[in-house]
Amino acid sequence: MPGKITERTNMKFSRYLCFWLWAAVFLGAGAAPAHAAGKLKIVATTSTFASLAESVAGERAEIYFIASPKQNIHYIEPTPKDVLKVKRADVFIHAGLDLELAWREPLLHAAANPLFLGGGKQAIDVSKGVVFKDVPASISRAAGDIHLYGNPHYWMDPENAKVIVRNIAEGLAAVRPEEADHYRENARRLTAEIDAKLAEWMTRLAPFKGEPVVTYHRNWIYFTERFGFAVVGELEPKPGIPPLPKHLAGLEKTMREKSVKVIFRESYEESRSTRKLAEETGAKVLWLVQSVGEYKEIGDYISMMEYNVRTLENALGAAR
Ligand SMILES: [Zn+2]
Repeated sequence: MPGKITERTNMKFSRYLCFWLWAAVFLGAGAAPAHAAGKLKIVATTSTFASLAESVAGERAEIYFIASPKQNIHYIEPTPKDVLKVKRADVFIHAGLDLELAWREPLLHAAANPLFLGGGKQAIDVSKGVVFKDVPASISRAAGDIHLYGNPHYWMDPENAKVIVRNIAEGLAAVRPEEADHYRENARRLTAEIDAKLAEWMTRLAPFKGEPVVTYHRNWIYFTERFGFAVVGELEPKPGIPPLPKHLAGLEKTMREKSVKVIFRESYEESRSTRKLAEETGAKVLWLVQSVGEYKEIGDYISMMEYNVRTLENALGAAR
């Protein structure tokens, strides 16, 4: 990542960093991380990556994640417990790009685990090999506060979930070569399950191909492009910038012109402007999910995607 942006981000979050450094000292900085054989200690930035890692590693790992599935991943404030978990971990799994960059770098520095610092080999960037969307020609905050390097919500395309699974399996195999076969076999099984479900989801959503939709944040494009929906606008004028009246008026006009029937939102997003827009246009607000565990019944990646597909199928089917 270019140093300039990272420095600015670090400055913005310096108050948390100070707190974590204090916490790290208090909790015993300088002590060597425990990397004895036994269960592999994995920390993932998100619950979804943790869930995929759990499928790959099985019972041979202890997995912890930082971002609550009920909060916006871009703006998490890690706790001293999180710092300690990273400090003692063998593997750190993250999204790359700037999904969690605002807190990821300060967290890694506070934990000071040499396995992860400076591109440490036991930090797994699961985006390796993903073809990013919305990659800007030049990096600037003119396009918003976040998504500076491309759109980081890539796990919402099941094809990308397979890439993530492969990266996790290969990353773990590099750390524990003696268990490589176990990780690769689990990854193969999960990939086959995702493939089978993806074919089914494509068939179920095929009747709605080309359906125009509006989303709150620009975090659905991998999902919508895979399944053939057309995002015609977002409530946020730019990623990370809250909705403004002028922008919402323009969006309302677009929604009427294109007969938009549904607005995607997530549980942690501000609800007032979404509700108002729905009331004024007659569109339905759909509460969709991007994180495993956001609702109790969403226990893994496949159940999360199944939930989204079913919700869309029901809403769009009923609207016809
Ligand atoms: Zn985002």
